[in-house]
Amino acid sequence: MKKQIFKNMLIDGERLCEMTVTDGVITSLKPAEGENRPSFAPGAENEAAHGDSSAVQVYDCGGRVVLPGIVESHVHLDTAMTEGDPHPNRSGTLFEGIEIWSKRKERLTAGDVKERAMRAIRQQVRFGVQYIRSHVDITDPQLTALRALAELREELKDTVTLQLVAFPQEGIESFPDGRELLKKAAGSGADVIGAIPHYEFTREYAVSSLNYAFSLAQDYGLLMDVHCDEIDDGASRGLETLATRAYEAGVGEKVTASHTTAMHSYNNAYFTRLLRLLRMSGINFVSNPMVNTHLQGRLDTYPKRRGVTRVKELTEAGINVSFGQDDIVDPWNPLGTGSLRDVTLLGLYVTQMMAAEQIDSSYRFITYNGARTLNLQNYGLVPGNPANFVVLGASSWREALAFHAPVLASYRGGRCIYEADEPQRRWHF
Ligand SMILES: [Zn+2]
Repeated sequence: MKKQIFKNMLIDGERLCEMTVTDGVITSLKPAEGENRPSFAPGAENEAAHGDSSAVQVYDCGGRVVLPGIVESHVHLDTAMTEGDPHPNRSGTLFEGIEIWSKRKERLTAGDVKERAMRAIRQQVRFGVQYIRSHVDITDPQLTALRALAELREELKDTVTLQLVAFPQEGIESFPDGRELLKKAAGSGADVIGAIPHYEFTREYAVSSLNYAFSLAQDYGLLMDVHCDEIDDGASRGLETLATRAYEAGVGEKVTASHTTAMHSYNNAYFTRLLRLLRMSGINFVSNPMVNTHLQGRLDTYPKRRGVTRVKELTEAGINVSFGQDDIVDPWNPLGTGSLRDVTLLGLYVTQMMAAEQIDSSYRFITYNGARTLNLQNYGLVPGNPANFVVLGASSWREALAFHAPVLASYRGGRCIYEADEPQRRWHF
């Protein structure tokens, strides 16, 4: 029996706790005794002591912030690390990105996909990610990327949880054999069914593609995550169809609308009507603030729209919203790093969620809210759950955001899957 004790973990922003882990499972979590929460002093060292006794391993987290494993709720691992190949995205638009990827896709091999995805995952793990929902383009008759990432999902299952979305990048109704490919993907290892209504040729195709994807998800017992209305067109209204299907079938918690950037451009009368349906449906939302501030508003002159969905209003209405990176060095984002800290920081600015309580609770966008989007079981730091957590080099979440704190350690089932030293800094003045 392997027993570990983690002392002085700062959990939920205020509780200083001691956690006992037995064979990789949290067996107790109690308030730390006789310890005062250390105050943060920039420049001061707060050494983590790694002790060891014969039977029990003891780790002192030194009052640092501990989060459950970070959740990346929207990324494209199949396209990661292809930026500039065959050429850069000159317009900075979603649609040019799709054209470039369509050419790159012709040269996919399993080895190519796995090698690039692995590089991206190493980046993500470096930033504390342990759970990843990756969309995978299935508008490819061979389903090369889906098969390759399904292998990787199995190979990495003790390190990260990988969830794969069958994502019809070039459409369901508007791509040759689109329906058959999506169905084939549903039976070839996909965990989640996707759709892309704003890319379909017509409004009617948008609606029928959503209906088809929805019935497929139901038939195969899969989750659903739609690239929904990722366009600056205020008339793009796939979301109302998706939410209505989810509401009528009573499966909202299994359904996610990603992007919904058109909501940024909806008139307030329509949005108010829609919000009632969204609340009733119980569906989840993923916003990708970094990529959408880059891709949206590209056809505007001035003023230029930010093109990020209404995160503040959805959150205030009690609707689940998580944040995703979307793209890591590919035709849609030349600078993605895999760091959800960066995404959250930008997300708070661009959605104007800068009140103290909004900043202090914003870790939820990339932890608990993401876990809900992914329908994860046994998530969070409570007894009975696997000991999956990360230690940040900061004594508050706000400090981690503001001072770009590194992830010092990432534990998966009590096993350290990543560690880094505190950076050594010297000021010569
Ligand atoms: Zn995406």
